[in-house]
Amino acid sequence: MKQKKLSQRPLTKRIINFAYQRGLLQIGRAFFAKSLTVVNYHRIGDPQTELDSFLPNISARPKDFDVQLEYLRRWFNVVTIKDLIGWLRHEKELPPYAALITFDDGYLDNYTEAYPVLRKHNLSAAIFLTHGHIGIDAPFYWDLAAYCFHHTDSDYILFPSGETRSWTDKHQGTLISHQWIEALKNLPHAERLQWTEQLPGRLNVSIPQNHFKNLMMNWDQVREMSAYGIEFGGHTLTHPILTRISPEEAEREIRGSKAAIEKELGREIYGFAYPNGQKADVNAEVEALTRKSGYRVAFTLQNGPVTLREVKRDPFAIRRIFVSHSHTLPKFALLTHRFNRYRS
Ligand SMILES: [Zn+2]
Repeated sequence: MKQKKLSQRPLTKRIINFAYQRGLLQIGRAFFAKSLTVVNYHRIGDPQTELDSFLPNISARPKDFDVQLEYLRRWFNVVTIKDLIGWLRHEKELPPYAALITFDDGYLDNYTEAYPVLRKHNLSAAIFLTHGHIGIDAPFYWDLAAYCFHHTDSDYILFPSGETRSWTDKHQGTLISHQWIEALKNLPHAERLQWTEQLPGRLNVSIPQNHFKNLMMNWDQVREMSAYGIEFGGHTLTHPILTRISPEEAEREIRGSKAAIEKELGREIYGFAYPNGQKADVNAEVEALTRKSGYRVAFTLQNGPVTLREVKRDPFAIRRIFVSHSHTLPKFALLTHRFNRYRS
């Protein structure tokens, strides 16, 4: 899970559309053939019908995902983590303009919405699972918070800092809910759990029984996709930010998710995605723990794409492109462009 600003100024949008339509985004492409473009999704769904969901995690509508895959097939060669590792071991070549499709967290719509579209295009993808949320009904704290803030009649909330913040309209309420979620990221796991459990009461919201029952995948669905060729990877047990917990806890989260997922799948997994994935969320120590835990590659959420030289230098800090449902196809094309790598 992570969030980014979704707004885009109309002029910028017009320039991007123009550049896309005139093919300007493809100029000089040959100089960037030795690259890896990793796109990152969370959920595939319709933000209009998911108003009480955490909207920054809705990456694309099914039809937009379809169009984006078509774009990737036209301009890139979609590879797998297995291909990537084979190349890192000098066992095989990677094709030019290599691309990798990834998902974080393990939402059910990866199975119901994304999987059929991937099959249609005959493409694979890698899904990084937060082990502790697969096959159970407990939502992530951001999903629970989004539901509560959407359905509350209250207009204020207490933050962990002790500060109370209030809002006057729905839009402002949503912004404050995102700040509240950010504030929770700073808390130790037990405290975060406590604040999450208390939120429905604080906002006077009752959550219908089984409301989150169909939010995440179960292991049968994971196994079915794995048998088809979808790859799975680790994303910790409980989704902590690894730089904010002790090295011992971090190792338990990283190593534990690998062992637990491998046990469910009956096969080894090689890829890991750092929760939140921003610069402050990964450091040399966390990278070293990931390597030590037996993973071969790991992915951040700092802006990609990357050159193959960069991947070789540090396979535990591979950049990705965060996709949002607000992205048009021209914007998606721009984000997969090499210059995006240099955007902060
Ligand atoms: Zn995540």
